Amino acid sequence: MLSQVAEGVLIHQSEFMQSNAVVVQGQAGVLLIDPGVTGDEIACIANDLRALGQPVVAGFSTHPHWDHLLWHDELGEAPRYSTTRCATTIRARLSDPHFRDFVATLIPPDIVEQVPLDLLGLITGLPAQATQIPWDGPEIRIIEHQAHAPGHAALLIEERGVLVAGDMLSDLLTPMLNMNDTVDPIEDYLAALRLLEGAAGDVDVLVPGHGSIGGADQILTRIDQDRAYVHGLRDGDVPSDPRVDPAAT
Ligand SMILES: [Zn+2]
Repeated sequence: MLSQVAEGVLIHQSEFMQSNAVVVQGQAGVLLIDPGVTGDEIACIANDLRALGQPVVAGFSTHPHWDHLLWHDELGEAPRYSTTRCATTIRARLSDPHFRDFVATLIPPDIVEQVPLDLLGLITGLPAQATQIPWDGPEIRIIEHQAHAPGHAALLIEERGVLVAGDMLSDLLTPMLNMNDTVDPIEDYLAALRLLEGAAGDVDVLVPGHGSIGGADQILTRIDQDRAYVHGLRDGDVPSDPRVDPAAT
């Protein structure tokens, strides 16, 4: 079921890790960000959009992790975008014919059969200089950074006051650092938090990739919480944190 979080912005939350798919209404249809996890859930989004008379005109993946790269036949054949670095990363992984088998090992056994992997990662990188998603709808600013995953994008829908944070600023999961192709994952993460802090003034609704939707009061709280955790990692003194550490599960 889709629920509205701001004018023209709806979400669908998956049972898996409270994953949030985001729908943004445009002129002739919708942009679908990180569509979801199981085939039934994604088909449910497709059905809801059909009922609303809203075709999917574009897709976007915030980063190159399997649970943000999925798609389903019933969503149609709209172009699917990401940052260049995200697309390059997943293309390299998909060049290994066994990659989808590897992905299946990352998915909890109780849902792996339900996750549609055929269309995983078939995305087009936007030009490296692109600061907006090219589509006929509200302007969506791409805030690219290298925390959590290569070419990770947060998306700021300024005129709706919505920040789609990808796998940052979660109230469910502690920060997960990207350790690939980087010399300083701690600084990458802190730099990304500074970027998000710079955008926070325009945000009324925070949509994390996993967890609860936050209001305006939540964004700085979650930035501070993530920063304290990463400072703890840097200083060898991780604070107690009520959130789940995915690496420990
Ligand atoms: Zn991720």
